[in-house]
Amino acid sequence: MSSSSVAHPFASAQPHAVPAADLIARFSAIVGEKYALTDVNDQKPYLIEWRDLYEGVTPVVLRPGTTAEVAEILKLASETGTTIVPQGGNTGLVGAQVPDQSGSEIVLSLGRLNRIRHVDPAGDAITVEAGVILDNIHTAADAVDRLFPLTLGAQGSCTIGGNLASNAGGTAVIAYGNARDLVLGLEVVLPTGEVIDGLRSLRKDNAGYDMKHLFLGSEGTLGVITAAVLKLFPKPRAKEVAVVGVETPAAALELLALAKAQAGSQLTAFEIMPRRLVEFSIAHIPGMRDPLTTPQPWYLLVEISVGTSEEAARAIMEAILEQGFEAGLVIDATLAASLKQRDDFWKLRHEMSGVQKMEGGSIKHDVSLPVALVPAFLERAIPAAESLIPNCRPVPFGHLGDGNIHFNITQPIGADKATFLARWEEMNAVVHAIVAEMGGSIAAEHGVGRLKRDLLPGVRSGPEMALMRRLKAMLDPKGILNPGRVL
Ligand SMILES: Cc1cc2nc3c(=O)[nH]c(=O)nc-3n(C[C@H](O)[C@H](O)[C@H](O)COP(=O)(O)OP(=O)(O)OC[C@H]3O[C@@H](n4cnc5c(N)ncnc54)[C@H](O)[C@@H]3O)c2cc1C
Repeated sequence: MSSSSVAHPFASAQPHAVPAADLIARFSAIVGEKYALTDVNDQKPYLIEWRDLYEGVTPVVLRPGTTAEVAEILKLASETGTTIVPQGGNTGLVGAQVPDQSGSEIVLSLGRLNRIRHVDPAGDAITVEAGVILDNIHTAADAVDRLFPLTLGAQGSCTIGGNLASNAGGTAVIAYGNARDLVLGLEVVLPTGEVIDGLRSLRKDNAGYDMKHLFLGSEGTLGVITAAVLKLFPKPRAKEVAVVGVETPAAALELLALAKAQAGSQLTAFEIMPRRLVEFSIAHIPGMRDPLTTPQPWYLLVEISVGTSEEAARAIMEAILEQGFEAGLVIDATLAASLKQRDDFWKLRHEMSGVQKMEGGSIKHDVSLPVALVPAFLERAIPAAESLIPNCRPVPFGHLGDGNIHFNITQPIGADKATFLARWEEMNAVVHAIVAEMGGSIAAEHGVGRLKRDLLPGVRSGPEMALMRRLKAMLDPKGILNPGRVL
């Protein structure tokens, strides 16, 4: 399905002029012919996003190899009013990184900026270029006995530039915060081509405004991130992972409080999954089995990480489960008996997005609530969705530990996918109204992009919107960088 074949709720920005052939040649000369992709077959992976909701066209995909080349590209783009769409691993879920259908937007792929520039175990810092795949940062940190904690399902293909530009969250936010919290310094190229070299690794630095935060989470609309200094953490010596069955989200919330009290900052994941998604996984992933002995309405993945020993990790987990059983919160639980089983439990969690695709169309919401209100939100939103589209299959899952729920709804069995997806906006309106009433956010960790651009003014005040527009106009006066995304 492409944005041309399905009437997606939000169209892309207004069309811009398609760059003439001689201008494309000037852009291509900056990176060299080999790294300027004009053949549509070569371009394909850059033109469609993971959910197949957006597909675009581009005159050229530019693959610069240095910050200087990025700067030259943006300078020329500003001079000529050419629009640029930065792209990392193309795993973003709000349509911001793929070009629109106008044929005017040049894709700037940062994948060749993939060097790890410096590892500093004594200072617990690592300097990486924007195109480094997240998994490779984990490996580099591991090699010096450190941890880079950002963890998400797409980590084998997403890049740190994309993670920072979208302020990615993931499963470790409960212990380490969002991507934004993991950054010490940033190198950014402004739309005008000026390079801001903020690659400082200082833990304290109040010299003026902390400008890196402007670019973190700005979804490529204010500048192109070319490198970053990231925080490293002590590597846990031992982990304990359990899958826990509970009757209700309310019981899960009570168990969360209990786990926090018991483990403090050693509680490194607390994820929730509904039975239906576990069934999808068993049906579609070869070898996947129910981790619990008896099927339960809700499954939790709980992870404890400690700096001491396996025994210490297990003792904490056992204490949590024991108290959970005694309080009548836990119905069933399985502790990972081996590294393989631990990986299997995580695989179950990480495949929650993928298995939905195999069940047909899915209407998605990436929302956050004050953590204590997640059960009440689910109690309202699930029946509301079911009453709007009878027999639809709500599969809310995600990061209960930080209040971020992916409130996704799979199409009714046997329904027509396009007819179901055509009700995307209607369903969004119902769910987002509940989120707003409960003081939540309609864009928790995936961002706004094109998907939620038209919803933003409804959830941000007039002065906040005006300030965002002023910042955009100041940094990108020609409006060349990711137009029509966020604003
Ligand atoms: C299976 C799956 C699971 C996911 N799980 C999570 C999750 O748990 N938590 C979460 O937060 N997200 C999750 N995501 C979405 C997430 O935002 C992305 O996976 C990731 O952060 C984006 O990185 P990327 O390199 O693919 O960026 P892209 O998709 O290429 O781009 C994302 C945005 O960043 C901009 N951008 C990219 N690189 C740069 C740069 N160098 N400078 C400036 N702007 C840039 C793009 O223009 C776009 O706006 C998931 C996605 C998938 C497919």
